[in-house]
Amino acid sequence: MSTFKAPKGTFDLIPPYSATYLAVRDAISGPLRRSGYGYVETPGFEDVNLFARGVGESTDIVTKEMYTLTTKGGSELALRPEGTASVLRAALEASLHKQGNLPVKLWYSGSYYRYERPQKGRYRHFSQVGAEAIGAEDPALDAELIILADQAYRSLGLRNFRILLNSLGDKECRPVYREVLQGFLRGLDLDEETRRRIEINPLRVLDDKRAEVQKQLVGAPSLADHLCDACKAYHSEVRALLTAAGVAFEDDEKLVRGLDYYTRTTFEFVHDGLGSQSAVGGGGRYDGLSEMIGGPALPSVGWALGVDRTVLALEAEGIELDIPPATSVFAVPLGEEARRVLFGLVTELRKAGVATDFGYGAKSLKSHMKNAHRSGARYALVAGERDLAEGLVQLKDMETGEQEPIALDRVVEELRAKSA
Ligand code: ATP
Ligand code: MG
Repeated sequence: MSTFKAPKGTFDLIPPYSATYLAVRDAISGPLRRSGYGYVETPGFEDVNLFARGVGESTDIVTKEMYTLTTKGGSELALRPEGTASVLRAALEASLHKQGNLPVKLWYSGSYYRYERPQKGRYRHFSQVGAEAIGAEDPALDAELIILADQAYRSLGLRNFRILLNSLGDKECRPVYREVLQGFLRGLDLDEETRRRIEINPLRVLDDKRAEVQKQLVGAPSLADHLCDACKAYHSEVRALLTAAGVAFEDDEKLVRGLDYYTRTTFEFVHDGLGSQSAVGGGGRYDGLSEMIGGPALPSVGWALGVDRTVLALEAEGIELDIPPATSVFAVPLGEEARRVLFGLVTELRKAGVATDFGYGAKSLKSHMKNAHRSGARYALVAGERDLAEGLVQLKDMETGEQEPIALDRVVEELRAKSA
């Protein structure tokens, strides 16, 4: 124990648990990498106004959850609370949208920061893998992203998740609905903050989690009834493509999501084993965001999946990922001369691509072998003075317990063949 602890709402990823995180990130990004998405990495902090404008001045993320700081040079920065605004900023800055075919398809993986009340599945530092398809308006693109997320979760073995789907309309029909909704909401008995929200972003009132608010929302005008023909057609095409792909979803009219930038398609992946932190991922179309941050019109769609909650979902379903041991050979030296020779052999094996570890420190054979077992290695290489004098090492199969002498100059070749 040191004097210090990880800050509130954060935790360290340490072996062996951390291997599950890597595997989950791999499983989520796999379908993207195989579908034309290129990797993008942006800074952990940005100009605070990118998020204020991009995510929305009225959102919880911007008003309550952002870590902001002023640098010694006087710049106002924020630790990134989400990925989309940064990725779009990066794409615009590099003019990726001018360099070839649209959409520009990007994926990312990283840490995000929100000043929240920590609880299970809700942390101040968390991990997301996300995808953005920038610069195209095509229902197939919306469908593609949802299908790829579905594939990612399924490849992990997850089954108890559901996809909620909605359309938020566009700049034609949303303003009309917004006014109708405001008229309805102004007549309700709501607290001061929520009344303010009616004027800034009335759709988000629909998203209010409190039962006393939800009760009053029964009979609220429905967005589905106000979608314009173009939005209706777009949405029904997305639905048809998902159905054709065999991806089940539920229509959820109340799904508005916590960010201001969404238009048309919005969706959320919820897992039923996670209690109140049930959203494992979400996303949608954000046709207006580029212009909101000073770029050209670039209709786009994306999602972000929470790695932490995906790991919790695996636990909830009792799924243990099949993670192969990191080490396949463990070398155990008995005596000084053997240390030198075996250490050289370890380096050779590693060069040859065989995952190898070494018994460090002056230990007994027994405690070396314990470490060899703990490493998960299939083979142990054991050598003492007598073996070396004969130009041999002992190769032990840790699974069968069988042991055979093998010539020093044959070790790399043999083990490379065995561990291929
Ligand atoms: P919630 O409604 O639970 O607050 P959100 O709508 O704020 O979620 P998004 O901004 O859509 O979440 O982020 C996408 C995903 O990132 C979420 O579905 C979730 O899995 C994960 N996530 C968001 N905030 C946190 C957090 N504080 N801790 C852990 N994971 C998070
Ligand atoms: Mg949130």
